[in-house]
Amino acid sequence: MTDPTLIDGKAFAAKLRARIGDAVPDFVKAAGRKPGLAVVLVGEDPASQVYVRSKGKATVAAGMESIEHRPDADISQAELIALVEKLNSDEAIDGILVQLPLPDHIDDKAVIAAIEPAKDVDGFHVINTGKLAVGEDALVPCTPLGSLMLLKDRLGDLSGLDAVVVGRSNIVGKPMAQLLLQENCTVTLAHSRTKNLSEVVRRADIVVAAVGRAEMVKGDWVKPGAVVIDVGINRIASGVEGKTRLVGDVATAEVIGHAAAITPVPGGVGPMTIACLLRNTLVAAHRRAGLPDPEGF
Ligand code: NAP
Repeated sequence: MTDPTLIDGKAFAAKLRARIGDAVPDFVKAAGRKPGLAVVLVGEDPASQVYVRSKGKATVAAGMESIEHRPDADISQAELIALVEKLNSDEAIDGILVQLPLPDHIDDKAVIAAIEPAKDVDGFHVINTGKLAVGEDALVPCTPLGSLMLLKDRLGDLSGLDAVVVGRSNIVGKPMAQLLLQENCTVTLAHSRTKNLSEVVRRADIVVAAVGRAEMVKGDWVKPGAVVIDVGINRIASGVEGKTRLVGDVATAEVIGHAAAITPVPGGVGPMTIACLLRNTLVAAHRRAGLPDPEGF
């Protein structure tokens, strides 16, 4: 990646994964076992299968135990919750991730609520979202956590900066806003009902776009010198028949040149999500084993 404006999330994530891998042997020495991550994939959703495969590979590469459960799409909610409860009581498992989306007949919220909060490495359980909101040690959702790491790496102290997060989902927008608030940013959380969105975004020193709309944030929405985190992953027609390409929620080409920095899509935030999943698993393993949190994560 040659343009200095582009934030190389792939390289940052690779270094983070390597540091996690280096920290695992100390945990093994102290706890007498590897950290264990269980991933539950219900059904055959092709995109989810790709994610789960990458997560499994990265977990093993970091020296951790990877356990996969792949129940059929017709599993009942009660059976899925019973599986989660079995994983809750399995001492060898430190992290449980139930891959979303779940089939329509299963209530995501009920399944997430069944996960033991100490093993909730996705950080979606209300105990963890509540702890994050009140500033207690929580397991924090991976995508916003990774986005924050990239921001701090680029900007250092975020204190006093104006941050605008576009998108208020429970998995990205809301926890991102909480994390930025903890860093003493002045935070605006924008969404589909926000008036004059382009003007709101133009105020920001930090823009986080987590909307799911291809290239919605235009170049002239971004203040010169702002740092832009593009969380969006959108597949659009590439111009070549039958082919598609990935773009973010920001019109990157328009922003390069006057933003101080931007995460590209792909290769920006995406790789940080898996790296932070491993980070959360390592932290959860330490806490469950009664060990102090690993340093530097
Ligand atoms: P989501 O649950 O669909 O939430 C989208 C948010 O965007 C909502 O809060 C919605 O507002 C807001 N929004 C929609 N249209 C808008 C508009 N025209 N103007 C302003 N706000 C608008 O999506 P998500 O799960 O947060 O994901 C967002 C994007 O990030 C998606 O592209 C997803 O694929 C990507 N993503 C990437 C990663 C990664 O690892 N890089 C991880 C997770 C998600 P309302 O609340 O008012 O409806």
